[in-house]
Amino acid sequence: MPLSGSAEVPAGDLGSETGFQALAGRLAEIRQRIDEARRRGGAAQEVRVVAVTKTHGVDAVAAALRAGVGDVGENRVQEAIAKMGQADASLRWHLIGHLQRNKVREAARFALIHSLDSERLAEALDREALRLNRTFDVLVQVNASGEASKGGFGAGDVSRLADRLIGMSGLRVTGAMTMAAFGAGEADLRASFSRARTARDVLAAAGHPAGEISMGMSQDYEIAVEEGATLVRLGTILFGARETQ
Ligand SMILES: *Cc1c(COP(=O)(O)O)cnc(C)c1O
Repeated sequence: MPLSGSAEVPAGDLGSETGFQALAGRLAEIRQRIDEARRRGGAAQEVRVVAVTKTHGVDAVAAALRAGVGDVGENRVQEAIAKMGQADASLRWHLIGHLQRNKVREAARFALIHSLDSERLAEALDREALRLNRTFDVLVQVNASGEASKGGFGAGDVSRLADRLIGMSGLRVTGAMTMAAFGAGEADLRASFSRARTARDVLAAAGHPAGEISMGMSQDYEIAVEEGATLVRLGTILFGARETQ
């Protein structure tokens, strides 16, 4: 069920009062739907909305914050950094796209990195954290749909990885993240989301402080919440269609 009017307000209007009111209205409806999905799922988890502002201007970031969303997601480091400089300092920035190892120096700017997708990246982040004498919060990205085009660890590799990550004291592994296959039917979505939930449980059982499951985008967030999502990453449904990617 598409949200009423979800595509009607172009992002360019977000700086205006009408644009903001429309965003606030959509958010209220989304929060209601999340609450209902949470009840259907029965896990009673807390669910946070991450507003995905990629390709949109800093207006979108400011409007999200004003509407009560303090978590924003970007998939590209450079684009995120450009917006951080113009945005409110209280925002929590989430990196939801691939982090290249030569950009680990920028990791410190993010509250949470959703996309830990290789052991080499884990090692590089661990080294950087130790260098800064701090820790980084990360989610293990799970390729739950098995699509070759998607990054992340296979569901079957998470157990071994969990043990490996215990030795990396610079990383706080706070959960798992996944992206469902584009256009997947409900049964496949549920299977993918349930694999991500299992991955989170495997990480927790290995001793990580893994409470989070980041899953669910504009098309599938209600099913993701029913399956236990604690972080939903919403772009299109909040800000309208993107011109690219
Ligand atoms: C773009 C993006 C989203 C948001 O997608 P929408 O369908 O616009 O809600 C969520 N997660 C990731 C990793 C993305 O790259």
